[in-house]
Amino acid sequence: MTDTTIKRPAPEAPNALRDWFTNGLRAEIESRGLPVIQGDEPAERGGIALHPIDIDAPKSFRRKNRAVFVVGIGESKGVPEIPLATLYPLQLRSLGNIFILLIPDGTHGGVEAFVSTLEQGSYSFKYWGDDQAFFTEVADRLTPLATSTLIIENEFVPDLEPELWGGDEITASITRAGKLLDELDLLPSPFPIDSYLPEADLRHLKQMFNIGGLSYGNVSARKDDLRFWMSASGVDKTKLEEIGPEILLVTDFIPERRAMRLSVPPNVTPRRVSVDAIEHFMIYREHPSVGAILHIHAWMEDIPSTRINYPCGTIELATAVADLVRQSPDPGHAVIGLRNHGLTITGESLDEIFARIDGKIQRQVPMA
Ligand SMILES: [Zn+2]
Repeated sequence: MTDTTIKRPAPEAPNALRDWFTNGLRAEIESRGLPVIQGDEPAERGGIALHPIDIDAPKSFRRKNRAVFVVGIGESKGVPEIPLATLYPLQLRSLGNIFILLIPDGTHGGVEAFVSTLEQGSYSFKYWGDDQAFFTEVADRLTPLATSTLIIENEFVPDLEPELWGGDEITASITRAGKLLDELDLLPSPFPIDSYLPEADLRHLKQMFNIGGLSYGNVSARKDDLRFWMSASGVDKTKLEEIGPEILLVTDFIPERRAMRLSVPPNVTPRRVSVDAIEHFMIYREHPSVGAILHIHAWMEDIPSTRINYPCGTIELATAVADLVRQSPDPGHAVIGLRNHGLTITGESLDEIFARIDGKIQRQVPMA
């Protein structure tokens, strides 16, 4: 049985902070009427799972349902020099959607809770002695993420016109864009997840998040009124060439299946399209003037930014970005910040986008 009364942290005992935090957060989430999944009980309808781990021997959380949002929680004594470098491997090992590491704040007798996300965001919450205020703040920030809806199913239809099986001048611009991202050093080396995860966990991770691997950023370009080409998920962006495995034609969104529809050549094994396809889809359909979209994990000065760091591939992130594109003075040439994550940039073509942002890109995404 877990003790649901909130206790002040006693950092002397092993994992006492972690357990205090887990119980406090659980009570706060439950008080909001949100389902908290206990252990790895089967969860048919989703919910939030709090997954406390020992950071020296992290155990992975095995979801039975993709809709379960897993919060890995651990405790450490020292403040991490680069929080993300400490937290991200723990997040992957625990198979969490996010990870929270609790550190006693020696100088003030408080606690700092560092958070990492799958988009490689990191931020922290500080505890100064008021349990209710602290857990309210953490839950306020987490619940929108935990209750957001992923649109990551793919429906592959082998109906691509034969003249497009080898690509066209637009897919050639996507190939060029991938190489240019590399030249500009805007392709962070994919996180070496295989060195952190046993093969079975890796398979589980890919299946649960519908990703082909952890790589960051994507490119797309309009084909015609209704369709656009987009990079596949988890591929090497310096070699975006083959239609199906590396570049896909997005033709529609099927709301009742929460799926993107992809038109592919027959007899190819396609990869999944980038998880941000729903976001690009919404922008292309709303703005005929948008001919291309670039998403990178980088930043620019003086740009509007989303308020909530919704996960990649959710309808909520797509809507938040589409709202900001709509509000920008020129939706056809917009630069939108995704909080703790990166940029979505619209333009006439990928070549035009690169020309416009040349020299203005900051590699470091501000974290807050
Ligand atoms: Zn991203």
